[in-house]
Amino acid sequence: MQITAKTQKVGLLGWPLGHSLSPAMHNAAFAVSGLDYIYLPLSTPPNLLSQAVAGIRALGFAGVNVTIPHKVTVMDYLDEVDTSAKLVGAVNTIVVKEERLIGYNTDADGYICSLKQAGITVAGKSAVVFGAGGAARAVVAGLVGANIASVTIGARDQSKADGIAQLVAGTVPVMGVAWDSSTFVAALSQTNLVVNATPLGMYPAIASQPSVPWDLLQQSVVISDLVYNPPITSFLAEGTRRGHTVVGGAGMLIEQGALAFELWTGCKADTQVMRQALLAGLEAIIKK
Ligand code: NAP
Repeated sequence: MQITAKTQKVGLLGWPLGHSLSPAMHNAAFAVSGLDYIYLPLSTPPNLLSQAVAGIRALGFAGVNVTIPHKVTVMDYLDEVDTSAKLVGAVNTIVVKEERLIGYNTDADGYICSLKQAGITVAGKSAVVFGAGGAARAVVAGLVGANIASVTIGARDQSKADGIAQLVAGTVPVMGVAWDSSTFVAALSQTNLVVNATPLGMYPAIASQPSVPWDLLQQSVVISDLVYNPPITSFLAEGTRRGHTVVGGAGMLIEQGALAFELWTGCKADTQVMRQALLAGLEAIIKK
């Protein structure tokens, strides 16, 4: 592609960016869209975040994605924070409109879209989430927004699970518990959806997985893993072996990216092209 002064710039603020696959995914989608955009990795140490955000505005970026560790702190430097980000308590996408920086969060809706793509709806059902970090917060916000009937969040540190439950308090029953408690096991035995929102199973420690009492799960339970590297984790493989429907984390990564693409450009992204670029990138990381 030819980069000119007219090329619209977007990118990714994070630290460290390491093997981020967002540039490959977005640039592949821009290439087939005919839109004159480029997506740049913008490695930003925490002590320089405010200058980097000012640079986004000064350099005329159309927007950026935001990742670890800036998703919460970046909110201090924005002109406006959309409801989607207020609900999750974090920003993963900034749109620049007439020099104003507006923060959004596409992780929650991206997660729900990835379930829909797999033919799964959550309204009126119950879910159990392993983990109480940023990804768990987005997933719980997404599930509540999609009219789930109840959510149980299990964490090794119950106070963190309680913190997420309080964030969405008053809408549907959301409970935080310690994941070694009998309450958590009881919730697992009755749930419709089990979500791994921890890094357990992520490359290179691919043999680990959340501690699920498989024999207690109902056969119809859907197993969802947010980990996307590898695309088929040992948690998903075990779920498949036991006859459960499984949904991998690649879908959420693609859908949250496609929603950001749409916020910046006003156009739909080609998610098939994004998936191909993501899977090719993951394969290259694992082969190294
Ligand atoms: P995070 O904020 O660091 O939270 C991680 C959570 O997992 C915390 O509750 C943490 O517990 C727990 N945890 C971490 N290591 C653990 C271990 N060895 N054993 C048990 N629990 C452990 O991370 P995050 O941003 O939520 O990300 C979690 C995972 O989701 C990562 O693998 C990430 O790649 C994936 N993710 C995927 C997508 C997607 O689009 N598919 C999006 C976001 C994240 P403590 O608080 O007690 O340490």
